[in-house]
Amino acid sequence: MLGWAAPSGRRARAPTTMGLFDFLKQKPAPAPTPRPRLPSGPPRPEPKGENHFIVVTLDSCRHDSFMAAAPKTIMKLGPVERRFSYASWTGPSHYNLLTGLLPHSSPPNVYASEYYKEDFYNFNKRLGAKDVEFAKMVPALWLPGFLRNTLGYETHARVSLPVLNQKTGVNRDFDSFQLMDKHNDMRSMLPTLKFPTDRPGFWLLNVGETHYPYAKPDEDSSMWPRISGVNGVFKKLDTQIDDKGNLMSSADAPQWFDQDKLDQLKERQIDTVRYLDKVFEELWDLVPKNTWVVVTADHGELFGEGGYFGHGPIMLETCFEVPFLEGKIR
Ligand SMILES: [Zn+2]
Repeated sequence: MLGWAAPSGRRARAPTTMGLFDFLKQKPAPAPTPRPRLPSGPPRPEPKGENHFIVVTLDSCRHDSFMAAAPKTIMKLGPVERRFSYASWTGPSHYNLLTGLLPHSSPPNVYASEYYKEDFYNFNKRLGAKDVEFAKMVPALWLPGFLRNTLGYETHARVSLPVLNQKTGVNRDFDSFQLMDKHNDMRSMLPTLKFPTDRPGFWLLNVGETHYPYAKPDEDSSMWPRISGVNGVFKKLDTQIDDKGNLMSSADAPQWFDQDKLDQLKERQIDTVRYLDKVFEELWDLVPKNTWVVVTADHGELFGEGGYFGHGPIMLETCFEVPFLEGKIR
């Protein structure tokens, strides 16, 4: 039988006389002496890329919202493509993106391995580097590590969504990684961007204005739209319980799926893209000459299509539709 271990490592009695909550509230034992630090990673090589590289993910921004906003400043980068994210929510989508696989074009009649090879080859142009290929990413398959330890980049992330916080698995091989104070303030990231002159820098900027509740940073949070079950899926009405504790069938459940409200939410998302276009103007003013920028989204968003709202446990094409554009601004 397993016994209880106190934080200090001493065996302690099971909390039979004091409630578990009180037991957990006991003052923790002093922290153990820290172990010696592990040797730091491999020395950073001489820089092998000419371009700074910035990837901006407009969280949850679906392709048609972006197009409806028609953001002139962002679109100076190049033509907008409709692409697809590899995942339908923030965590796995950013993990995938940081393997170096940007949202895909869903090309038919092509082997996946061939598509990946071509996609990695494109990094030569993005980075102003030579000989970047899929084989060099093996075995770690991790772009920040490759940029930092093979191409000599500085690597930084500024993220808005708490599911990407610095304790998560995506924080690997970054020189700095910061979860911003507000989930919806891209402008606050800009003063933290520094571009070294002796080596190129990589920046991941995860932008949250486009995420539910699609709010600009100066909007009073008491005015944000409220939707219960926002992290779930509207369609799960058959799990609702009536006031006598009985499960309700979908037919009996309240009609709380309100398309007018969802249309308003979509308008709010479009409006955040219009707002962000001004922030991008400030970003363009900041970036040095040789900077390659990718603007995309980590996944799409559903506003009633198929009976869904939001993103996550949803298998519907629109949930994966994202804008994709890239290029140099000067
Ligand atoms: Zn997301």
